[in-house]
Amino acid sequence: MSFQAPKGTFDWLPPRSERALAVRDALVAPARLAGYGYVETPIFEATELFKRGVGESTDVVSKEMYTFPDKAGRSLTLRPEGTASVVRAVLQHNLHNGQLPVKLWYSGSQFRYENVQKGRYRHFWQVGAEALGAEDPALDAELIVLAAQGFAALGLTRHRLLINSLGDSTCRPVYRAALQEFLRGLDLDADTRARIEINPLRVLDDKRPEVQVQLKSAPLMTDHLCAACRAYHEEVRALLTASGVAFEDDPKLVRGLDYYTRTTFEFVHDGLGSQSAIGGGGRYDGLSELLGGPALPSVGWALGADRTFLAMEAEGLLDDSAQSRVQVYGVPLGDDARRRMFLLITELRRAGISADLAFGGKGLKGAMKGADRSGARFALILGERDLAAQAVQVKDLTTAEQTEVPLAQVVDVLKGKVQ
Ligand code: AMP
Repeated sequence: MSFQAPKGTFDWLPPRSERALAVRDALVAPARLAGYGYVETPIFEATELFKRGVGESTDVVSKEMYTFPDKAGRSLTLRPEGTASVVRAVLQHNLHNGQLPVKLWYSGSQFRYENVQKGRYRHFWQVGAEALGAEDPALDAELIVLAAQGFAALGLTRHRLLINSLGDSTCRPVYRAALQEFLRGLDLDADTRARIEINPLRVLDDKRPEVQVQLKSAPLMTDHLCAACRAYHEEVRALLTASGVAFEDDPKLVRGLDYYTRTTFEFVHDGLGSQSAIGGGGRYDGLSELLGGPALPSVGWALGADRTFLAMEAEGLLDDSAQSRVQVYGVPLGDDARRRMFLLITELRRAGISADLAFGGKGLKGAMKGADRSGARFALILGERDLAAQAVQVKDLTTAEQTEVPLAQVVDVLKGKVQ
């Protein structure tokens, strides 16, 4: 019998896995520079947290959650996103009673039972940043700039930033009613008609051409913003422009739930086909209260690390050249040499030089093949005669030049060569 990774999941293997780690790190590096601190929450939470925090009318909660009872009968769910857990953690530990905004970042697995296709998986990786407890257009702009910097640092150029405002509890209900009235007059299937009543903004997001055609003259939130929301949005836009971050206004960019307010944004990449969103976020001023906390106006984003990786591949930013696993590779010949080489390799690693050696009692030929495959720049060959002379042969694998170096000096000599 042979096992395969479950549908919609995959393994990251070297050397790509190393690059995936570097991509995740690069995406959050700008947020760390802006004072966001690392938060790690459990991979599973009480199911109810996501029902409330993501919303029961969303596809994520109604169709895509990995929910299971634990042995004591509690309903738990593998996290489908990060924000609800972060808000839960902030409230549980009273972080909101300290300095505001509370700025946090995370990086981790998310789980959704999706229809699998390229760029859409059941287990995927998001990095996220959240700023809780402040209503300030500069904070929205800061987060957007930080995400843009992360993508730029990876060398991406074929992505676009879309932004919109969803209004607030003053102007959104008026708009929602106007939109519902418009949508009720359209020719739509039963599911979509039901959505008009629960989640009308989501209908704007419908990608089917026959629906899009009918939505051409739909009322837009941007035309219904109250004065405060309009001023707020203009300020976010002005700060982005001043920061040199290009954006496009997309009045149909929505999030369906009432606790999302004002700023919403998405980064899309033009080399990815239908799953083009590489990250997104926005303001969620009502979420804390929904989870039993005080009013805590907040804003955040989640960036898809796997899709960012695909976007980098699409732009040819990940060359296929073999990467070096280690800088130095030990080739011991005989048992005494193996013991001495083991110590030498350990010393090299202590000195910060990455090093490996041939295991399994290989002869010269097999061990040299291992040295080549490792991508090492130098092979250290230690035979019985070398050992008697307290020396080692240092072979530069790029030039095939070989020199004898006293064992007592080899760490220092290599330090000078590889660093
Ligand atoms: P969301 O939490 O749905 O706003 O997603 C934020 C980002 O996570 C998206 O822009 C995608 O880049 C990524 N993402 C969401 N769902 C998936 C998935 N099923 N597979 C891979 N990446 C995803």
